[in-house]
Amino acid sequence: MAEAHSPGSRPEHWDIVVIGAGPAGAAAAIQAARAGARVIVFDKAPYGRDKVCGDGLTPRAVGALNDLKIDLDDAHPIAGLRMIANKTVRELPWPSTSRFPDHGAVWPRRRLDAALIDAASEAGAEVIWETEALPTLDNGAVTGVEAGGRRIAADLVVVATGAPGAVARMLGAERVTDEPFGLAIRSYAESPRHADQHLEACLTLKDDRGTPVPGYGWMFPAGDGTVNIGVGALSTMKSFKSLNLNTLLDSYRQLVQDDWEIGPNLERPRAWRLPMSAQRRHGTGWVAIGDAAGLVNPMNGEGIDYGLESGMLAADLFVADPATAPERYDQLVGERFDSFLRTGRRFSFLVGHPLILRTGLRMAVGTQSIANITLQVMGNLVDSETPGTSGQVLRAADRMLAVADPLLRRTRAAA
Ligand SMILES: Cc1cc2nc3c(=O)[nH]c(=O)nc-3n(C[C@H](O)[C@H](O)[C@H](O)COP(=O)(O)OP(=O)(O)OC[C@H]3O[C@@H](n4cnc5c(N)ncnc54)[C@H](O)[C@@H]3O)c2cc1C
Repeated sequence: MAEAHSPGSRPEHWDIVVIGAGPAGAAAAIQAARAGARVIVFDKAPYGRDKVCGDGLTPRAVGALNDLKIDLDDAHPIAGLRMIANKTVRELPWPSTSRFPDHGAVWPRRRLDAALIDAASEAGAEVIWETEALPTLDNGAVTGVEAGGRRIAADLVVVATGAPGAVARMLGAERVTDEPFGLAIRSYAESPRHADQHLEACLTLKDDRGTPVPGYGWMFPAGDGTVNIGVGALSTMKSFKSLNLNTLLDSYRQLVQDDWEIGPNLERPRAWRLPMSAQRRHGTGWVAIGDAAGLVNPMNGEGIDYGLESGMLAADLFVADPATAPERYDQLVGERFDSFLRTGRRFSFLVGHPLILRTGLRMAVGTQSIANITLQVMGNLVDSETPGTSGQVLRAADRMLAVADPLLRRTRAAA
């Protein structure tokens, strides 16, 4: 075990320090501890903390939880997605693919995150709550952390701190300022339809001036008497800075009230950021994973599965070779996610234009075959490697968006 630290003595030493016990940090801790690494995790919040989230797990996220051998009995299974655009409603099952399971889930974050971090503890990671950790730097290299009065040296510091804050500022890993990001708000309400088997996404939100909002409203049934109700928007929209998320949520609530027979909000609606880029995600002695690395899909606001996957990847690379892990991580995470997320960011500039958004939405759910592709995009089932029509469409869209991108950014809807 690690050496105890007394003032003046050398810092205690661990193989890996993880800062942040959300899904990304927990996944890294589980994977590394199971492989025999000595891992310590710090979170500034208390055990059982909640995270503002829609609680939706795509089939890809369920696949990542299966890889981590997390028991999903406590989660509410989801068979598919219901997309609504004005009066058009399309309900589609998740497709069967060889890559991902054929079902998703809704798992309220308080319980999902507890299940993950409990698995990390069971694997042998030490988890310290209510303690902020900040990296210690030596000539630009991260050598460990200071946390709760302890000085800890580590071979790798895994930054799993969520949307950028103090740690990102210290490491120059904040979001890229001219790239898009998202904001979303959610609450819970009781509904007789709490055990519905579909995620519901309304793609035609409008702000209080009637401007179409690039984003969507969601009803995610949690199977425990409640539904997660929320709305999210991309920063590329006109008047984003003056967008009132509480008002947007209220108007969405009115829209779904009768269909879902929802009761009053069970808690005050809370909003949080969705980071979609990062200036850096590695350096000597450290890697950033999950939201801290900007790994959120701009096309659906989903970040849990990228958090889980990037956490596992960082741990695997450390176990294979600690010396090369940060660089290899940056390279492999780039190969796996960069081009897809770049397409998503370009797409978000496209849909920031109200006219394009209106036309695009009519197309997105207009025919069954295009709706199927929309479903795969919303379910994180398609990326640059996907074979078949959906992958081809995505690659073709990326080529077109690459050409249009400078113009779209130049003409982006003024704030
Ligand atoms: C309203 C909303 C709805 C969303 N809906 C969905 C959805 O339905 N599905 C989906 O997949 N994604 C969704 N997302 C995105 C998803 O919530 C994130 O992608 C996900 O939480 C990222 O996990 P993470 O582990 O990287 O970070 P987080 O879950 O944010 O965890 C970071 C942790 O780090 C801790 N921390 C930060 N700094 C320090 C420090 N210095 N020292 C110690 N601890 C620290 C924090 O306390 C926190 O516990 C939504 C986001 C929002 C805002």
